[in-house]
Amino acid sequence: MHLTGKEKRWGMVIDLELCIGCQSCAVACKRENQVPLGVFRTWVKSVEKGSFPSVSRHHLPINCNHCERPVCVSVCPVRATYAREDGVVVVDPHRCIGCQYCKAACPYGVRHLDPVRRIIAKCTFCHHRIDAGLLPACVEACPSGARVFGDLRDPLSRVSRLIAGRPAQVLLPEHATRPQVFYLGLEEEAVGQRGREIGRDGVSGWRSDR
Ligand code: SF4
Ligand code: SF4
Repeated sequence: MHLTGKEKRWGMVIDLELCIGCQSCAVACKRENQVPLGVFRTWVKSVEKGSFPSVSRHHLPINCNHCERPVCVSVCPVRATYAREDGVVVVDPHRCIGCQYCKAACPYGVRHLDPVRRIIAKCTFCHHRIDAGLLPACVEACPSGARVFGDLRDPLSRVSRLIAGRPAQVLLPEHATRPQVFYLGLEEEAVGQRGREIGRDGVSGWRSDR
């Protein structure tokens, strides 16, 4: 599959009914992006629903939403964070001064200060891979096919067909950031109070309506 092209808008669909919480995506991301110990660019939050013996487990993979209206971009004082033409929100490591304004502004808690380089880091949709026509490492590593990546502007792409065919939700729609990561099967009840912290640092709650 060849995925390059400036006219595209990259997005991700995560089918929670397929996610088994194996954390393969988190491990693949760590390896692909050489993410230091103690920080993550993606992770999977797992919560239990019900009480013994009637319990079930639910999983919520989380990473940067590559928002169409990214608040992280507008607060950056040195324009180190910006959105590419294809919608991927990135950080220029040569411009970032580590002030962490963007980390504070992002309602999803998906940015962290790289403990080694002392600059901000986060999911990049593996832009070095997609620019080479490859899939993000997390998508490629997912054994159940829960993560799907593609061009949201192409009505025939798999991501577009998934969003059109089933109810799709985004995290924290009330922030009007227009996330480009969509979830299928997102149940607030299933995540409940224990799922109200999205970021690893515990930032805020989420709602499942789009
Ligand atoms: Fe920026 Fe946060 Fe949106 Fe990612 S999820 S684009 S870091 S506001
Ligand atoms: Fe990590 Fe790449 Fe997946 Fe983003 S797209 S979470 S950088 S593996």
